[in-house]
Amino acid sequence: MKILNLRKLKKKDLLVFDLDGTLIRTKSPMDAIMSKLLVRLLAVKKVAIIGGGQYSVFQELFLRRFKCPKELLKKLFLFPTTSTVFYKYKHGWKKIYALPLNKSDVSKIRKAFKDVFKEINYKHPEKTYGQLIENRGTQVSFSVYGQDLVRVLGKKGVKMKERWLRNNFKTKMKIAGLVAKKLPNLEVRAAGFTTIDVTKKGIDKAYGIRQIQKHLKIPISKMFFIGDAIFPGGNDYAVVRTGVDYMPVKNPEEAKKIINVLAKVEK
Ligand SMILES: [Mg+2]
Repeated sequence: MKILNLRKLKKKDLLVFDLDGTLIRTKSPMDAIMSKLLVRLLAVKKVAIIGGGQYSVFQELFLRRFKCPKELLKKLFLFPTTSTVFYKYKHGWKKIYALPLNKSDVSKIRKAFKDVFKEINYKHPEKTYGQLIENRGTQVSFSVYGQDLVRVLGKKGVKMKERWLRNNFKTKMKIAGLVAKKLPNLEVRAAGFTTIDVTKKGIDKAYGIRQIQKHLKIPISKMFFIGDAIFPGGNDYAVVRTGVDYMPVKNPEEAKKIINVLAKVEK
């Protein structure tokens, strides 16, 4: 883990987090310790979360578990589906904008995945859970075991996903690469353990950082990003392009250590 420069962090107004794999274990509910740490952090800083999942996932895995005073929720900003949607708290969570894909793009995406599976003779796991290719409105996502794996199997499902990625990283990147070739006007990214996301072109976490800058009126130099996929091919990697200061973490346990330090930094 990199060493945090405290003097630098004091100058930051906004901490931007990835959700899946960073604040929560993949597709699993946030735990009570993370909730407490984030409340402490919100007392001193503003926080934004950019995740690949849709708002309903934020609700189920994050908001429902977040025990936070209402006053502090005003300092929290949610950017689901890679910031194609923005929610902010004002007497309840309010949608500020949404940029959905059109129907023809959605069917092109489904076809691209199916064609690539055929071309490389990719076989789905024998047992899958829920939809494999899900239309999330502003994003279409392919998930190796289906969208509901972790909801059905819990921790066992998470282990399965981790194992799949360890054994099939190359296959995942190959599928993502070939699908991207078929969809030159759309953005294709490998995300999470077993997911590939497709959005409108130019929508990645760099776009997210700029959306945050625009809507929260906070310059990038005043932000600090924390995510578990800040490496080439990872869905957090795009933030590097924006010049934002960042810190990679391997998992929520590492993220907790950092939040613990950040929460002690007074403005
Ligand atoms: Mg992540």
